[in-house]
Amino acid sequence: MIGEFAATDAAQCARAGCRAAAAWRVNWRNPRIHTPDRVKVWPACDEHVGYLRDYLASRSFPVVVTALADEVESVPDGAR
Ligand SMILES: [Zn+2]
Repeated sequence: MIGEFAATDAAQCARAGCRAAAAWRVNWRNPRIHTPDRVKVWPACDEHVGYLRDYLASRSFPVVVTALADEVESVPDGAR
């Protein structure tokens, strides 16, 4: 799968200013601009995975959090 983010051991947390190594993938989509098969990925560290998920969920974007190595095919509507 070709994505915007390749899972590598160099993945860094997407939280602004955080340089910690990512342990999680925050998979999300903006239903207003992304088709259902589109998956955006933010790598996240242990500390910020909840912050990033809540940030997207508060905007009513579907979000699925997985381990860094686990890719998802899609982010269904209503996923939190
Ligand atoms: Zn972080």
